[in-house]
Amino acid sequence: MASLSEIHMKNFKSFKNSKLKIPDGFTAILGPNGSGKSNTIDGICFVLGKTSAKSLRAGKFNQLITYHNGKRENFAEVTLIFDNKDRKMPVDSDKVGISRKVKINGDNNYYLIWNEEKEVKENGEIKTVKEEKRKKVKKSEILDVIGKISLSADGFNIILQGDLIKIIDTTPNERRKIIDEISGVAEFDEKGEKAKKE
Ligand code: ATP
Ligand code: MG
Repeated sequence: MASLSEIHMKNFKSFKNSKLKIPDGFTAILGPNGSGKSNTIDGICFVLGKTSAKSLRAGKFNQLITYHNGKRENFAEVTLIFDNKDRKMPVDSDKVGISRKVKINGDNNYYLIWNEEKEVKENGEIKTVKEEKRKKVKKSEILDVIGKISLSADGFNIILQGDLIKIIDTTPNERRKIIDEISGVAEFDEKGEKAKKE
């Protein structure tokens, strides 16, 4: 299964320029109050396409941009790098990055990042090198790519504070819907319904 291997944050909340590597296996983020644990999770949710700034604990999207000494930077950008060796994401690259940038005027853009192999001549020898490619994409394309590894901003792969109580309080029917969503069954139900209508 594809896994998140790195989180890069530039001018995002309390992170001026941070590159976080995530080791394989269980990962916990530890730190004193106000050190940026929740901001890191907000960063992940931001890239996955959250449509509400409030759910990222900001009044507006441009308030996610680092504010320091009475001044705000011009933009904030967070990039998630996934290990895609199993090609679960439909991009022909071992590493796939997805990124979201918000500018001070509130504009939001999404980017897809991948590696392409290129042959170069060095001292008369032909060598294969990896070249990083990056293109601006629509949000729907990002949602499509992350959907292939069962990720979504509003899905149940991220359980935020308070979500657990909400799940406990749901009716059995609603709880069944949540389980269908997590197990990936819901996607087939939706496709089945769509096919019936066609
Ligand atoms: P706790 O243990 O209390 O939950 P935490 O590690 O989760 O703490 P965060 O909520 O991630 O802490 O970080 C809060 C800090 O982030 C605060 O000091 C806040 O001032 C800072 N912060 C939030 N938004 C911005 C911003 N736009 N610019 C600069 N700093 C910011
Ligand atoms: Mg916190």
